[in-house]
Amino acid sequence: MASVSVSGLAKSFGDTHVLSPTDLTIEDGEFVVIVGPSGCGKSTLLRLIAGLETPSAGRIAIGGRDVTDAAPADRGVAMVFQSYALYPHLTVAGNIAFPLKVAGRPKHEIAERVAAVAASLDLTDLLDRKPRALSGGQRQRVSIARAIVRQPKVLLLDEPLSNLDSELRVRMRHEFARLHQQLGATMIYVTHDQLEAMTLANRIVVMAKGRVEQVGAPLDLYARPANLAVAKAIGSPA
Ligand code: ADP
Ligand code: MG
Repeated sequence: MASVSVSGLAKSFGDTHVLSPTDLTIEDGEFVVIVGPSGCGKSTLLRLIAGLETPSAGRIAIGGRDVTDAAPADRGVAMVFQSYALYPHLTVAGNIAFPLKVAGRPKHEIAERVAAVAASLDLTDLLDRKPRALSGGQRQRVSIARAIVRQPKVLLLDEPLSNLDSELRVRMRHEFARLHQQLGATMIYVTHDQLEAMTLANRIVVMAKGRVEQVGAPLDLYARPANLAVAKAIGSPA
């Protein structure tokens, strides 16, 4: 695991300021949940940390090392997307193995890691299937398996449960809590779901309009929202 620290981090697309200069430090092993209305810059912040976007300004450090100019694969970070983003032509095993193959790991190590990760996410019986033969919940478990197969120090999750039904979401919520324990990774998790935020987070980051409005422990934010935007995002009584 590793701390994640951004300073003066900002992103514009042309004249549109999507992320205003932002300072935020996430501790080693913390589970931080980011909430805020659609379009406020949550995904952009995750994508900047993952190295999938180039910042307009500011620096990013992971585990105390400046990674602002590092390639995505060299950051010790993995990301899970709302849309799963699985490779349709590969089997479950092929999808999970993919990051290890790209990294040039030896065959026996790949087989070992795929088996271990599949077992931990209850995917062992599905390894030969193609993504189209899986349910939504199974697909999301494969995308999580693929993200953790290289044992990232930091796991970024962008609304990972928003395409699943409510029963499955409750079950997966427990999965994420367990995964956090088991991996010992720092987790940064974006969600629209207040219950997910309240139950999973060590700290919640509330964003609005490209800015961080407030950061704090779930119950502190609930009891003492700094403004209306925070109260709305957390579901505090008005
Ligand atoms: P969130 O994840 O909070 O819903 P995003 O980070 O996806 O928000 O987007 C924040 C804003 O940035 C939105 O207004 C979106 O339209 C804009 N945006 C995101 N990506 C791009 C892009 N590649 N080009 C132009 N605008 C973008
Ligand atoms: Mg988003």
